[in-house]
Amino acid sequence: MSSIDTLIANTIRPDVQQLAGYHVPDASGYIKLDAMENPYELPYELREELGRRLADAVINRYPVPSYTTLKQKVCARLGVPAGYDVILGNGSDELISIMVTACARKDRRATVLAPIPAFVMFSMSARLAGMDFVGVPLRPDLSLDKEAMLAAIAEHKPALVFLAYPNNPTGNLFNADDMAEIIRAMKDTGIAVVDEAYHPFAKTTFMDRLPEFGNLVVMRTLSKLGLAGIRLGYMSADPALLAQFDKVRPPYNVNVLTQIAAEFALDHMDVLDRQAELLNAARDELAAELASLPGVEVFPSAANFLMVQVPDADQVCANMLAKKVLIKNLVKMPVLANCIRVTVSTPEENSEFLNALKASLGGTT
Ligand SMILES: *Cc1c(COP(=O)(O)O)cnc(C)c1O
Repeated sequence: MSSIDTLIANTIRPDVQQLAGYHVPDASGYIKLDAMENPYELPYELREELGRRLADAVINRYPVPSYTTLKQKVCARLGVPAGYDVILGNGSDELISIMVTACARKDRRATVLAPIPAFVMFSMSARLAGMDFVGVPLRPDLSLDKEAMLAAIAEHKPALVFLAYPNNPTGNLFNADDMAEIIRAMKDTGIAVVDEAYHPFAKTTFMDRLPEFGNLVVMRTLSKLGLAGIRLGYMSADPALLAQFDKVRPPYNVNVLTQIAAEFALDHMDVLDRQAELLNAARDELAAELASLPGVEVFPSAANFLMVQVPDADQVCANMLAKKVLIKNLVKMPVLANCIRVTVSTPEENSEFLNALKASLGGTT
């Protein structure tokens, strides 16, 4: 062993050494349909105005860590109930990390539970924080297996349960009554996090139900709305619970440029909302066209992506890659055989995807 290998063996946690890491493929020259990004930019006049505001950013100073103005705008514009505040994160990825860090107690077993397949950062963050992760498979129709979830809650007494609403990578909304029963089942013993990353498209929410459940956290992000590059997530919960999480948050976790860009975007929500409506309509069109292809099944989606079952996902993805179209292969995910996930994009990119898929299904590259 070289001395650097010895150093790593002696210092880095064995589970971290084993980890593959979150792989983000190089997308230059590709049609990028693998990360649920909004393909539309802000109109040029708005970007010019944003540029002027960013020119005035006080970048020689640390951010003011209370983030009062931005938080007030988030609360006022995004439906946070009266009396509730938010915590901001460097993307909701950081908020997940904050919650698991706060719950990863050392004095007894601490568990994160989620239906699977789920957003990979739930299990990844849990394990990095030293928590156990328990995944409960969805039913074959992609609905929550409520009985299995309740049994797992009784058995493992999870500190945190994550429910993405709609779910990623499946795209469907779980039954809200089933979710409420799961949240209630944990009451004083576990925190239920409803991850509404796709709220701009699904519109349906648990945010207004915060007063009903003391153990509920509602988490969202500006990423899927069209601001993935600025990295801003937010979450709300009972103020006493939020105050605990806030102690774990790095004080300057949202930078001043993000703060200015987010405030600007919130002042122009109408533009972003219209883009989301366009994408919803495009999703339904794309779903209908996919459904007409032989051997292809499309699953219902309330998000800006579609999960699609094909005869051979590995082959389709390899063929699509050769055609310079990036999609997500879900073959390694439980429950789903031969599924791919594709982000809904502009009409042009959607039809390029469709054409590439049609050609790929035939097995020709
Ligand atoms: C994309 C996604 C996120 C991550 O959002 P960021 O704010 O960009 O970190 C969180 N949860 C789910 C379910 C997602 O699909």
